[in-house]
Amino acid sequence: MANISIIGLGAMGQALAARFLQQGHTITVWNRTPGKAVALAAKGAHEAASAADAVAASDITVMCVLDYAAADAVIVSAASTLSGRVLVNLTNGTPAQARVTAERTAGLGAAYLDGGIMATPPMIGGEYALILYSGSKPAFDAHAGTLQELGAANYLGGDAGLASLHDLALLSGMYGLFAGFFHATALVDSEGIRAGAFFKLLGPWMSAMMGELPGYAEKIDSGNHGINVVSNLGMQTASLDNILTATKEQGVATDLLDPLLELFRQRLATGSADEDISGIFELVRRKRIAGG
Ligand code: NDP
Repeated sequence: MANISIIGLGAMGQALAARFLQQGHTITVWNRTPGKAVALAAKGAHEAASAADAVAASDITVMCVLDYAAADAVIVSAASTLSGRVLVNLTNGTPAQARVTAERTAGLGAAYLDGGIMATPPMIGGEYALILYSGSKPAFDAHAGTLQELGAANYLGGDAGLASLHDLALLSGMYGLFAGFFHATALVDSEGIRAGAFFKLLGPWMSAMMGELPGYAEKIDSGNHGINVVSNLGMQTASLDNILTATKEQGVATDLLDPLLELFRQRLATGSADEDISGIFELVRRKRIAGG
């Protein structure tokens, strides 16, 4: 059993602390606003008087606060006790924020792991919870068994920004899926069709289309968007144009799909009508290469 401190007792911090308590660990907690540790204390958690005291109480501290401004404030206030300890920061942020925080904590003598939680609080400790980690490999190796009690622990590498990069990329995929759902549902809603009824068609269709993605990934990795093309860009541009024309005719907003049609047209203008639509990836990637 380990001594673990949890900093931040919002919805997620509460779930993390409760799970560790359930597993029999010795838990110390701290939250900026007092009064949030009552339920955890009743289950045996110790409440520290400050963030510095919480860090001092354990070899490993798991911090999960709102954002990196909050995380920075905690690190500043706990700076005197961080040396020689492990800080696992599960606060959501950007790769750049994670890298800056890794440098700052290294400067304070702590080993740093950054993490991205791919779960909601009720999922913590359950079979579908996944937490991505990056940063100090020795710290991950030493505590992987404990961290796995929160959910599957996937270590992505020594660059502290990698967990956040993957976390935000996974969420990007999710929001793209949600955007398609909202557009499609608004289109049928224009004729009074209920979202729940329509989803009986939409859900299986979207699941079937997931099967296209490994093929796109292969084309992206090979850089060849002209192989195994069954639905070419020229045809799909006409189809998407049709969708957006119908969307306007039905009085529905085109905002969610306009950028995609714009990318299709840009790629088409480069003479890529016979290629797959995966070719638009080159335009999205090019913004980074061009620094745009
Ligand atoms: P909550 O809003 O429930 O809690 C926020 C926590 O941050 C509170 O403990 C709050 O303390 C603390 N906090 C805010 N500002 C400061 C500050 N300046 N100094 C110290 N502490 C501060 O958020 P969640 O617990 O839901 O989320 C925490 C993190 O987990 C976020 O980064 C979120 O993106 C991530 N996450 C959350 C998920 C979820 O479904 N909830 C899923 C995956 C990741 P106080 O009580 O004093 O306000």
